Amino acid sequence: MCTPHNNKTMTRVLSVPSAKASFEQTTIERRELRPHDVLIDIKFSGICHSDIHSAFDEWGGGMFPMVPGHEIAGVVEAVGSEVTKFTVGDRVGVGCFVDSCGECEYCLGGEEQYCTKGVVQTYNSLDYDGNPTYGGYSQKIVVTEGFVVRIPDSLEMDVASPLLCAGITTYSPLKHWNAGPGKKVAIVGMGGLGHVAIQFAHAMGAEVTVLSRSMNKKEEALSFGADHYFATSDPDTFTQLTGRFDLILNTVSANLDVNGYLSMLRVDGTLVNVGAPAEPDQYSVFSLIMGRRSIAGSLVGGIRETQEMLDFAAEHSITPMIEVINAGQVDEAYERVLRSDVRYRFVIDIATL
Ligand code: NAP
Ligand code: ZN
Repeated sequence: MCTPHNNKTMTRVLSVPSAKASFEQTTIERRELRPHDVLIDIKFSGICHSDIHSAFDEWGGGMFPMVPGHEIAGVVEAVGSEVTKFTVGDRVGVGCFVDSCGECEYCLGGEEQYCTKGVVQTYNSLDYDGNPTYGGYSQKIVVTEGFVVRIPDSLEMDVASPLLCAGITTYSPLKHWNAGPGKKVAIVGMGGLGHVAIQFAHAMGAEVTVLSRSMNKKEEALSFGADHYFATSDPDTFTQLTGRFDLILNTVSANLDVNGYLSMLRVDGTLVNVGAPAEPDQYSVFSLIMGRRSIAGSLVGGIRETQEMLDFAAEHSITPMIEVINAGQVDEAYERVLRSDVRYRFVIDIATL
């Protein structure tokens, strides 16, 4: 239900009152539309492992009550007086960020995620007025138009939603580190991010290898475009693949044997971490020195690049494999993600909230 109240929008949300608590259905206010704001009627909201790290307060600094969700797909319901990019009825998406300074070198360069003033995250963050942000496990959200992207017509809303985080978080580093023809790319971890990364790396023309803990996901990995698949539980994998890859994209939510993965890089190869375990990784500098190798990290992607990624996904028929759940199943879904018992992304049908 949406009841206007002082021109603010009341909206139902799923929120956690404290770290590791169960989800509750509550009501919050979304701000009155400013001239450049868009009011979005959310249709689907993906469940990213970052939502779990945050709702469990594993990274610290959690702000409660928390409404997670940064894989948002919906329809524009109203626009502010000066909005030019969107009209009512447009199919749109919102990802991990809802504001940035717009003036620093990174914002001007289209990489708002590295804004020097501090990018405003979609939830678990304070906006520039000091108000907490609440994310996409919600019926409605108000976002300034510069942080809203267009969902191409050929992408269904439910499968589009995970692209708003899992998609851009893997597309951006694959492009930045030049995944493409002639490049051998490994994707570590075949979860929400990993299964989309395989599709992007393949579409970019790279030779793609999946490194998963077991052989269980092999058939699906090949169907997503992987050329090779190995189980990291088999120690032979590491000897067999020594010096093999130009780029390894690590999407794993837990700490890994970093030295083992570095040994699989060619000279000048790079291990890029997007997986974000709470505890520090450990490695020997000799693993870098002996092959002039690099370790890097990457945060989501900018807004322009997010639109480019969606258009690329539409053009190459890249679609996350999803399991749609209702609003009452989110606690159970979190448990299942922690057991890697999901093929490969849960998406909440917001109509059930
Ligand atoms: P996910 O769906 O849970 O997938 C993670 C995958 O990692 C699992 O499917 C599993 O793949 C592997 N894995 C899990 N536990 C493991 C363990 N203990 N040891 C080895 N492998 C393990 O999670 P996700 O949503 O893709 O997110 C992955 C990570 O990326 C999270 O830490 C998340 O916070 C982070 N993230 C970062 C950014 C960024 O901007 N850098 C953005 C979004 C998410 P296999 O079964 O194939 O081994
Ligand atoms: Zn995410």
